Formats: sequence, structure tokens, C-alpha cells
Amino acid sequence: MYIAIEGIDTAGKSTQIELLKKEFNAIFIKEPGFTSFGKKIREILLNEDISKKAELFLFLADRSETIEEVVKPNINKLIISDRSVISGIAYAMEFFDFDMLVNLNKFATDSIFPEFVIILKLEKEDLIYRLSQKEKDSIEKRGIEYLLKIQDNIIATCNRLEIPYLLLEASKNIEEINFRIKKAISGLIKR
Ligand code: C5P
Repeated sequence: MYIAIEGIDTAGKSTQIELLKKEFNAIFIKEPGFTSFGKKIREILLNEDISKKAELFLFLADRSETIEEVVKPNINKLIISDRSVISGIAYAMEFFDFDMLVNLNKFATDSIFPEFVIILKLEKEDLIYRLSQKEKDSIEKRGIEYLLKIQDNIIATCNRLEIPYLLLEASKNIEEINFRIKKAISGLIKR
């Protein structure tokens, strides 16, 4: 079962995934930058000022390689991914047509999309505070309103693709969020 954890920067995905690593015998992946090829792409994505189209194709190349190298061979095991095609579409739909993005992503992944998504949703005040506490990469520098729009896009993308999801309040404490995620994943793998 392929599950994705989604949310904008600072929503707490990495913290939750570190906890899940101790709790589930799963294959943990992340986008962008999981494979050795992907790590090189991530360097470019986070540091270079490139065109939106070039950026889109780099994200697709990274995703394609992760699906081919890791997801496909392990599709019958539990795979937990820090971001996925959902982020891929949610960020890019600010600049490109939704249906075209779905088609490109189907091509890149051979239509292997997560079966279930856990979304960590931040309130504006929390996002402002959390962003002020960290050094921003080139994408985070696009600002608060941009990231809030992406957050809405993440939810809209799951709805439009009809992928079931669990929406969690990211400002709740770490243990409570972890409890809810654990419960959801346990329920899914028992089915
Ligand atoms: O989640 P992580 O910190 O690894 O993401 C790296 C950067 O790439 C973040 O700034 C995130 O907003 C951005 N990103 C993006 N499009 C995606 C996935 C991540 O712009 N599909």
C-alpha cells in the first residue's frame, strides 16, 4: 500500500515521518530527492532560478525515477512517502493546466499514484511563525499567500483525483498528530 504524507513547508511532515519510522516496518521515500539521480535534481530545484517549465520537468523526472526504482518493485509492501504526485500537481497548478498536469504525471508514474493521503494543514498564523523561524529555500521565498494557496491546492487535488485522504490540523501537538496518523495507517494495512 502506497501512502503519502502531504502538506506545505513547515507543516511538520518530516517530524511525523521520523516517528513513523520507529512505528512501522515500511519503505520510506521522499520527493524530491530520494534516488541518487533525484538528489542531484533536488540540488538544482532548491538552488537555481530556472523557468517554471524546466522546474516542472525536473520534478517529473525525479518522481518517475522514484516510482521506477522504489515504488514499483515494492508496491505490495507498505510505502510511506514524504510528498508525492499530489504536491507535484498542487504546486504546478499555479502555473499550468490541471488536466495537462494529471496526464504528464500519469505518463511519468505509469499511473501509480498514492492510494491514501494524509494532509497536514496549517493555519495562516502558524505558517507565518514557523516560516520566520527557518532559513527559506527559493520556493519558500515565494511567500505566505503562495504557500496557503498551495495548501488549498493539495486538498483540491485529492478531491479532483478522488484519492481518499485524512485532513489533520498541523498546529496540534506532535503526539496527537502522530496518534491519528498511526491509527489511520494501522486501519489501512489491516484491510
Ligand atoms: O518537502 P521538502 O522541504 O523536501 O521540499 C523542498 C522544496 O520544494 C519546498 O520548498 C517545497 O515547497 C518545494 N516543492 C515544490 N513542488 C513539489 C514538491 C516540493 O515546489 N512538487
